[in-house]
Amino acid sequence: MTSILVRYHEIALKKGNRPYFVELLKRNLVSAVKDLGFKEIRSLPGRLLMLFGEQADEEKIGRRIERVFGVANFSFVERTSLDLEALKSGILEALDGRRFSSFRIDAKRGDKGFPLTSPEINRKIGAAVKETTGARVDLKNAECTISIEILPRDAFFGFDKIAGPGGLPVGASGRAVSLISGGIDSPVASYRMMQRGCRLIFVHFHSAPYLDKSSQEKVRELVKLLTRHQFASRLYLVPFGEIQRQIVAAVMRPLRVVLYRRMMMRIAEAIAKKEKASALVTGESLAQVASQTLENLAVIEKAATLPILRPLVGMDKQEIIDQARRIGTFETSCIPDQDCCQLFVPRHPATKARLADVEEAESRLDLAGLIQLGVERAEREEFSFPS
Ligand code: ATP
Ligand code: MG
Repeated sequence: MTSILVRYHEIALKKGNRPYFVELLKRNLVSAVKDLGFKEIRSLPGRLLMLFGEQADEEKIGRRIERVFGVANFSFVERTSLDLEALKSGILEALDGRRFSSFRIDAKRGDKGFPLTSPEINRKIGAAVKETTGARVDLKNAECTISIEILPRDAFFGFDKIAGPGGLPVGASGRAVSLISGGIDSPVASYRMMQRGCRLIFVHFHSAPYLDKSSQEKVRELVKLLTRHQFASRLYLVPFGEIQRQIVAAVMRPLRVVLYRRMMMRIAEAIAKKEKASALVTGESLAQVASQTLENLAVIEKAATLPILRPLVGMDKQEIIDQARRIGTFETSCIPDQDCCQLFVPRHPATKARLADVEEAESRLDLAGLIQLGVERAEREEFSFPS
């Protein structure tokens, strides 16, 4: 039978909010594996134990748990009866065939009724492992760590620790609306905010029917990939072409991109209010392109009242690409598409838009009407994982 011991870091968990954090982590862990023979999850001091049925596929389960934010690391563990001899023979049998020159035992006694203390268990089991394998004890840099958990009903042991993604469980930091474009950056920005505990609602602006639907297909695929971390996602697909047409009619070429962005912020904010989200997220990175100079970022930001979170602002493109590869969104992001920002824009957009010029240009537009148009015509799609 498969069992897993999940450990989380306790740094961010000052007293009061800890039970809330642990409850969210438990809920997210269960969501991640509910279709893989999951039976039960138990809270232990500082960690969680998950139990699965007979036919559970450990590889699949491991891959799912690896993506749950809040997990520091985890181990597959075996169950034995609450008895030192049973534990000893279980461990020695499981070690058969493993090679290591140093080891340590890390016993935790969750059941204080057990007749031996943790150091005593460490010593007794350690002596048996040493005698059988010939390996030495090394408390600092052991090649093999043998974890033991003594619980009220049974005992568990396991060997390797598999790294989790760290961070905080999705939901622990509230809700935010992420502007997702189909490019490389915004999926990475989304990932980083989910890792900090944000539950995301996605908004994508497209220019169909002026441009084709390729960006929508890409964004659906990206949201699907990102949903593996938050288990349920909502995506708003906002038709932006008509809004762009009106901006183009009213505004000089160099300012168009900045005006597009400001409209995106306003519509995303209107959606955020509906969704009770308290921030916007973008994949902007300082000076990466003309629309992301300090001056332009400042002018774009003024269109929103909610805080705009830009987790990539200080990252190089190469760092962002490396992370996109690691989280599995890079290939999808590289599929060619027709992005709405290509529509009606000049080759040399303004790099230093002035707020006064932008506001003057916008005074020729029916801003409230355009926001309403975007929000009303947005199509909503739901995603879930596992689907
Ligand atoms: P990305 O790779 O995320 O597209 P980028 O480097 O291409 O970023 P821009 O095109 O300037 O940069 O976009 C900056 C940010 O604005 C994006 O990261 C995204 O958050 C938002 N954004 C841009 N276009 C769209 C869109 N069509 N729909 C939703 N958000 C968008
Ligand atoms: Mg882009």
